[in-house]
Amino acid sequence: MDRRKFVGAAGMAGAAGLLSACGQKAGPTTQCADGSSQQTFHWKMVTSWPRDFPGLGTGASRLAETIGRLSNGRLKIKVYGGNELVPPFEVFDAVAQGTAETGHSATYYWKGKAPAAQFFAGMPFGMTAQELHGWIYYGGGLELWQETYAPHGLVPFLAGNSGPQMGGWFNREINSLEDLKGLKMRIPGPGGEILKRAGGTPTTIPGAELFTALQTGIIDATEWVGPYNDLAFGLFRAAKYYYYPGWHEPGTGLELMINKEAWDSLPADLQAIVRTASQASTTDILSEFTYNNGIALQTLLTDHGVQLRRFPDEVLRRLNDISDELIVEMAADSELAGRIYASYKAFRDIVNPWTDISDRTLLNLRPDI
Ligand code: CA
Repeated sequence: MDRRKFVGAAGMAGAAGLLSACGQKAGPTTQCADGSSQQTFHWKMVTSWPRDFPGLGTGASRLAETIGRLSNGRLKIKVYGGNELVPPFEVFDAVAQGTAETGHSATYYWKGKAPAAQFFAGMPFGMTAQELHGWIYYGGGLELWQETYAPHGLVPFLAGNSGPQMGGWFNREINSLEDLKGLKMRIPGPGGEILKRAGGTPTTIPGAELFTALQTGIIDATEWVGPYNDLAFGLFRAAKYYYYPGWHEPGTGLELMINKEAWDSLPADLQAIVRTASQASTTDILSEFTYNNGIALQTLLTDHGVQLRRFPDEVLRRLNDISDELIVEMAADSELAGRIYASYKAFRDIVNPWTDISDRTLLNLRPDI
C-alpha cells in the first residue's frame, strides 16, 4: 500500500473513532476532539417572577429552553417560579449558596446585598434599554458587574430588558408637587426613595396583593411594569388614571446569575452557549415587551376606557433633581460603586448627544397619533 494512502486511511479511521467517542455510546465525561464534553448537566433556575409571568417568566423559560436546545440536551435547566423553590427575593442567596445553579432576576432587588449592582438594572431618568446594553456589552459595564458579584460567588449576565415602564396607576391626580405629599404608593428601589424625598410614602407591597391594596385605598397608587403586565393584572379595574412616563424605570435590565462553581464546571462550549443564549434573551425579552405593550395599551384605551395622564413637567423636573442627588449618594457608598458610577456617567455623557440627534430627533418628527 502507498504510504501516503495508508496514513490518510489511518487518519480517517482515527477521526471517525474520535467522532464516535462523542456519539451515543460516549460515557458521561467523554472528552471530544474539539475539547467539548458529553457530560450532561442538570441545573435549576430560580426566578423572582411567577411562572410564565408575561415577559419576565415567559422570557426566563425561553432562555432555559434555548440553552437546552443549543446544547443538544447537555445542559438541561429546570425553571422555578417565585416561591416554587425559594421566595422571589431569595434568588441571590439561593444561587450564591448553590441551592440552585442559576437565577433570573433584576439587580435592584439586591440593594441590601450588593448595592452597587443596582446600576446594572438602570437608574431613574437614566439610560434607555438600547443605551444600557451599549454600556454593559461594550462600555465596560459587564466587567464591573462581574467584579461586583465575584465576592458573592456569582457570575452575572445581562438577560432581558423590560423597556420603558409606565409611571403607574393612580386614584388621585398629580397636578403639582403638592399632590405628591403624603401619596401612598407602591414603588420599590431608587424610585421609592426619590418619591419619599419628594414627600410621598413609598411601600413595597408584593405583586399579588397590589390589586386589593389599590382597590381598598390602602395605597393611592402603584407602579408595576407596563401595559402588557398591567393589563394581565387587571389594575385598570382598581385605579382611575394611568400615568406616564415611567421616569423611575426607563429600561430595566434583567439578569441571569450563575453560581461560580457551577459555571466553572461547564466545558468551554457550554459556557459559550450560556453566554450567547443570555445575549439573545436580552433582545428576545425586550421584543416581547415592545410588541405586547403596544397591543395592550390599545386594549386598555379602547376596550377599558383607561384615562392616560402625563406627569406635569414641574413634578418630573423635581423628581429628576432628587434622582441626581440620590445617584451621587449611591456612588459614594463604596469604592466600587464610585467606579461603576464613573463608568456609567462617562458613557451616559458620551451617548446622550448621539441619542439626542438620532432617536430623539426622529421620534419628535413622528406625527401624533
Ligand atoms: Ca416596575
